[in-house]
Amino acid sequence: PRLPSPSEIYQPQRANSKGVEFGDRQALAALRGSIAAARGPFMARPAGGATKVRAVTSPVDGAAVGEVAETEEAAIRDMMAAAARAFPSWNRTGVEARAGILKRAADLLEARRGVFLALLQIEAGKTLDDALAELREAADMCRYYAGQARLAGAEIRLPGPTGEDNRLRYEGRGVFVCISPWNFPLAIFLGQVAAALVTGNAVVAKPAEQTPLIAAQAVALLHEAGVPRAALQLAPGAGNIGAALVADPRTAGVVFTGAVEVAQHINRALAARDGALAPLIAETGGVNAMIVDSTALIEQVVDDVLASAFRSAGQRCSALRLLCVQEDIAAVVIERLIGAAKELRIGDPRDLGVHVGPVIDADAKEKLDRHVAEARAAGRLLYCGEAPQGGCFVAPAIIRLARVGDLRQEIFGPVLHVATWRAGRFDALIEEIEAGGYGLTFGLETRIETRMQAVARSAPAGNIYINRNMIGAVVGSQPFGGFGLSGTGPKAGGPDYLRRFLREITVTTNT
Ligand code: NAD
Repeated sequence: PRLPSPSEIYQPQRANSKGVEFGDRQALAALRGSIAAARGPFMARPAGGATKVRAVTSPVDGAAVGEVAETEEAAIRDMMAAAARAFPSWNRTGVEARAGILKRAADLLEARRGVFLALLQIEAGKTLDDALAELREAADMCRYYAGQARLAGAEIRLPGPTGEDNRLRYEGRGVFVCISPWNFPLAIFLGQVAAALVTGNAVVAKPAEQTPLIAAQAVALLHEAGVPRAALQLAPGAGNIGAALVADPRTAGVVFTGAVEVAQHINRALAARDGALAPLIAETGGVNAMIVDSTALIEQVVDDVLASAFRSAGQRCSALRLLCVQEDIAAVVIERLIGAAKELRIGDPRDLGVHVGPVIDADAKEKLDRHVAEARAAGRLLYCGEAPQGGCFVAPAIIRLARVGDLRQEIFGPVLHVATWRAGRFDALIEEIEAGGYGLTFGLETRIETRMQAVARSAPAGNIYINRNMIGAVVGSQPFGGFGLSGTGPKAGGPDYLRRFLREITVTTNT
């Protein structure tokens, strides 16, 4: 098979998953009908031995969503052995067949959208808007990687002297361990798994402990679409299960999305492991900044900041954490932001009028509440809305910082920090942001052309957004991922992602 052409790699043929116009009453009614028709019981079980069964509860109201049986640590050896046995034949399956399975999975995902949207709403607390965007992203990931998959079967002839035949080919590495977070429990879970599978790897996937039910549905869907059961196994459980999978000598690669501390832990664990050397693909968090200068259009700034900081209750890795406003317009920007934040409705995300749903669990709520309380005690709280009682709700808050360097930790929720800067300190400001070490997303609002160019050239982030909000990267259009403390690359939904899941083999024959 030939190598895919650059256009197949950069723009594989496919159509993005279609949205639903919420203003179209019929379409909205059909969408809500499909969600209402989704019926449990929802259950997640490991492919191997299970220990305890526990209830999965909703962050919206604490109601039981379903049950999960967690993976027994002792069963991991057998699961990994089964995956390792499944690998060679899956790796030899024609790449067209594997790509076809992913495309079928994307079609099934859209056809069964009700179940997935229902779980995104009750298990992960997403608004309908966010849930639908995530479902579409998941389908896009499957189709995008399917479109590029031919790389995995490619064999290319390379030059050599007469009498020598040189060939380079790409194939799967073995068993890939996929470890994902709860904040995109469908799109990130499926994106990782789809990339690993389509390149010929067998997969053991560990979803976040908060969102195993939607992961179980996604795995069932891939099995139905044609992935052999041993080639894709679910391993629900907490961090210890992830750690045990990483430590297994058969693990040929790890793809991880989550907190930077956990990525560093996995990196050390891989290094300390006996046996084969395995790559780590890690996508982690960020202390994402946006710089606003005094030429910016204030209405647009308010709109973009609100979406970037508070949409999805601030639980996106790309979300804006640190707003840096030029001093002379700071008072008016802050006043308008507070005015606009007051309009946000917080509550049950199944209510279409709600903008901000719950945070993922009681632990997250407690951490965020403590952070806001500390700011209040220090006299730095500019605004905090009111959260309803009952669920894991955290109201949007705005905190003033004395210095940019006062925020060095990712605060994962609807909390925006604001610092001001003086004219003439633009470059110094970028250096201060860079000194934090993260490099995920970066925003700029300005009408100064040279400033746009300077930021595009050198802002410390993998994804830079100018005069727009900083969230919602689209597969194939905005390949996503950062550097430094924010991750290893390659970018998800981008042209180079699949390569990291492959091994390269050169065969030289004296003819
Ligand atoms: P987390 O790091 O706590 O957990 C992620 C996964 O790692 C979970 O499945 C967890 O069980 C597992 N895990 C925990 N300890 C482990 C260990 N020692 N060994 C192996 N696995 C272990 O992250 P989270 O709270 O689920 O997700 C939020 C984080 O994810 C935020 O930091 C966010 O910025 C980041 N994130 C990054 C991206 C990106 O693309 N860069 C996307 C989404 C989320």
